[in-house]
Amino acid sequence: MKAVRFHEHGGPEVLRYEDVNDPEPNSDEALVRVKACGLNHLDLWARNGLPNVAIQMPHISGSDISGVVEWVPSEERMFSRGDEVIVNPGIGCGRCEECLLGRDDRCREYKIIGYGTDGGYAELVRVRRTQLIRKPERMSFEEAASFPLVFETAYHMLVTKARVGPGDTVLVLAANSGVGIAAVQVAKLLGAGVIATTGDKETAEGARRLGADHTIDHYKQDILAEVKELTGGRGVDVVIEHVGKATWEGSLKALAKGGRLVTCGATTGADATTDLRYIYSRELTIYGSYMAGMGELLEVVKLFGNGKLKAVVDSVYPLQKAGEAQTRMEKSMHFGKIVLRV
Ligand SMILES: [Zn+2]
Repeated sequence: MKAVRFHEHGGPEVLRYEDVNDPEPNSDEALVRVKACGLNHLDLWARNGLPNVAIQMPHISGSDISGVVEWVPSEERMFSRGDEVIVNPGIGCGRCEECLLGRDDRCREYKIIGYGTDGGYAELVRVRRTQLIRKPERMSFEEAASFPLVFETAYHMLVTKARVGPGDTVLVLAANSGVGIAAVQVAKLLGAGVIATTGDKETAEGARRLGADHTIDHYKQDILAEVKELTGGRGVDVVIEHVGKATWEGSLKALAKGGRLVTCGATTGADATTDLRYIYSRELTIYGSYMAGMGELLEVVKLFGNGKLKAVVDSVYPLQKAGEAQTRMEKSMHFGKIVLRV
């Protein structure tokens, strides 16, 4: 098969479009012919290399995969060759208490496909059979490859962790990002008021179209001052944080008394400062959030299937142009998902 791999860490130039042996699935697994694969920041981290994370080389990235079942073992009952599927990007062992309680993301063997294993920048991918999910008919393969990772993350943050409801006001940072776009939509669906920060006029309009009630330009405006202004000095009930060092202090200060902050990332750096006085005197809660369970992803797929959530695809590149696609993401030129067509 053809695949895009890297044999060493580095910039986009280390990505090679090359011939690779077809993956050989075992009886727990299925083979999926990839039709589309969405990009995530995870792909850049894997390519650039992270301290303390060993990436097996050569490596095939790609965590958001849609495609067609190429092969399943004869004992498989739910899926057969030719079925159009989405692949759950998270893989738990399926047997431990955390997996069985629906908290796959806390499984000690938890891996993300395309990060801990080979992924979807390829014509074929080998996945656990239990990772297969039927693709909603109304979605194209590109749309179906654009949502699993970021939407299950946003769902886990807003529904499972912060338990957002109609009375809440939610501040979504970097609403132009994948998680941000997902969080605006999920928060709106839960009936919350949404304040979104974006980097320019176009993405602000995009966020408003998806349901944001107010937008703040995070380059030109002071987020904290604007939040106070918009909430009559009270602050927001929930902050969706994934920016890290650059926004962390402001995010805590933007919370109303009793507010909840949920974090799923630290794109600008992890060594943020926390003024503990805010935490105790204002009775704040901080939730860490990492991916989601299969059940949560199935809920999300249902919401896409009935049109309550909308896929936002920024651009589509052929597999050979994975380097160009990653460069677009690195430069933050996008609104929505960048997707590879295979
Ligand atoms: Zn497990």
